[in-house]
Amino acid sequence: MAECAPPDVDSGSGKAETILEPRYAMELRRHLLTAEMLEPGTERVIHTSIDVRIDPLTGHSSRILPERGLMPANDFDLAAFARENQPRCPFCPERINSLTPTLPPTIHPEGRIARGEAVLFPNLHAYSPHSCVSVYSPRLHHLPLEDMTDRLVTDNLRTQVAYARAVMAADPESRWASINANHMLPSGSSLFHPHLQGIVDPQPTTQQKMLAAVPAERFESYLKAERQTGERYLGNTGRVEWVVSFAPIAPAELRAFIKGISSPAELDEDLVAELAHGLMLALNAYAEMGFQSFNLALYGAPVATDGYPLNLRLACRSNLKAFYRSDSTLLERLHWEGAVDLAPEMVAERIGERFRA
Ligand SMILES: [Zn+2]
Repeated sequence: MAECAPPDVDSGSGKAETILEPRYAMELRRHLLTAEMLEPGTERVIHTSIDVRIDPLTGHSSRILPERGLMPANDFDLAAFARENQPRCPFCPERINSLTPTLPPTIHPEGRIARGEAVLFPNLHAYSPHSCVSVYSPRLHHLPLEDMTDRLVTDNLRTQVAYARAVMAADPESRWASINANHMLPSGSSLFHPHLQGIVDPQPTTQQKMLAAVPAERFESYLKAERQTGERYLGNTGRVEWVVSFAPIAPAELRAFIKGISSPAELDEDLVAELAHGLMLALNAYAEMGFQSFNLALYGAPVATDGYPLNLRLACRSNLKAFYRSDSTLLERLHWEGAVDLAPEMVAERIGERFRA
């Protein structure tokens, strides 16, 4: 057990150990577990370590497993698949105006919100009274993550911010806004054409509720601890701080925090551009790591919620291929427990350079 533990392990006994990091602003809690078994064929005793970590904000737990190739790099011909499904795509230029719905005049008189190349319209398959989709561009039916640019991400976020503001002005009860993405089919997207999704709702989702209940000081202490350890801290792009999650619920999970605002509706133009830049850096890094599918959630609380920093989670999903392994297993879906074989510290090492450049 001891050989797989970091230097500041509390040398407790038994199967579980709590690793205390008392010199930091907050205790980042971990328990090291060991599985013992006999190797097939040799009957030799072998051990596997499981690093169970507790998320400092919501208290959920996550299991960091030894690297075992659970997330293979993309080898699927996405461009060919894009050409195959493009003729039926409702978000492409030939069909977007005839096949997508328009916003009611009370929300936006022009029906669709456009910024640069990005276009936003209601989600035909609504998840909420106010549920929208925004494409990066009707012409970009296939948008590999290495081709995400500041401009594309900024303009798409701008449509979402305009939407959140318009909805809140028309329907003040709908105070909980989020900006999200299912990118590529493994992430839950039913359409290939890349897009963001916005939800503005009178009720928070489970995670929005849990995060909004976190005391302001805990956000502060978490970020302070991550700045001090440096192992997972990616950087501060100005007003947005980025870290790799200590206890990820999904592979290569990053979190970002924006102090001083609590809702996407409060993002000004400069902040949108800064946030988009960080997202672009992260998505380009995902591409370099071999990933092409991701989920994003920017968890808004009501405007001006005291002490709540607007924050996001961004994580990779398995790559598309026939008979692929989903990264969302019985643990994530039914136990609400993360289980990943990409150690957060390794992810920080791979991604950090881009944020420091
Ligand atoms: Zn398309």
